[in-house]
Amino acid sequence: MDLGISGKRALVTASSKGLGRGCAEALAAAGVDLVLNARGAEALEATAEAIRAEHGVEVTSVAADITDAAGRSAVLDAAGDVDILVTNAGGPPPGMWTDWERDDFVQALDANMLTPIALIKALVPGMMERGWGRVVNITSVSVKAPVPVLGLSNAARAGLTGFVAGTSRQVAPHGVTINNLLPGIHATDRAVSLDKGVSEQAGITFEEAKTQREQTIPARRYGTPEEFGATCAFLCSQHAGFIVGQNVLLDGGATNLSM
Ligand code: NAP
Repeated sequence: MDLGISGKRALVTASSKGLGRGCAEALAAAGVDLVLNARGAEALEATAEAIRAEHGVEVTSVAADITDAAGRSAVLDAAGDVDILVTNAGGPPPGMWTDWERDDFVQALDANMLTPIALIKALVPGMMERGWGRVVNITSVSVKAPVPVLGLSNAARAGLTGFVAGTSRQVAPHGVTINNLLPGIHATDRAVSLDKGVSEQAGITFEEAKTQREQTIPARRYGTPEEFGATCAFLCSQHAGFIVGQNVLLDGGATNLSM
């Protein structure tokens, strides 16, 4: 399918690896020029080079912490006027509710709620002026089914989801859509570190921990960054202009919300 976005320009934050990279690759495959970002310059440039070589699109990379005001400003300067924004950042650590103090909450809200809001506020006005834009926020399955050990993530993602619910309806008249993509378990570095945590906590091997987690998913496997990216690119496509303010769950059926 021709997504109809060839020649457009996208900013994908936190995109040297994992789900952000999956989104960047799928947009590049649709002919979209990219601004990529991550903190580690080496992995970021390697990803940028691989995407240039494979898809022949323009790729600018900005090594910076997207959750930090100075880093965000450097990324926004390089991005200029973009048609598509995919927001992403690393997720907060797991723990017990008693582990966290105010500063921990401020950090999580900064990374996974206030950073995407700042990016939306910076870039959506230009999209509205030009009459076309797409925003996809990478959030989490925890929005629909809060994960007990991810209290910080549950809190920050719920806040962003609330903001998007109202804002997406306010900007839709101007040709701009904002939607959220909710990953369940996907095969990325983040999943590996969560598998390690389960294996250490339960005193089982890494493989046993992974198999145990796979068994909780009706599809009996983890999702891939490629299929996640393909959904993201579709939400950014010309065909998705009537999809507004949705929370699209990609979890292999793990969350049973069908009734
Ligand atoms: P990942 O494989 O660990 O990749 C994270 C990417 O983000 C890397 O490119 C990393 O590069 C970059 N990054 C992290 N923090 C950043 C920051 N402050 N500024 C700029 N770049 C940053 O993670 P993932 O699995 O793709 O997860 C992406 C998001 O989805 C996370 O918020 C995660 O909580 C959420 N999620 C993932 C899953 C899953 O199963 N994978 C499930 C639910 C939710 P640097 O480290 O070099 O900065």
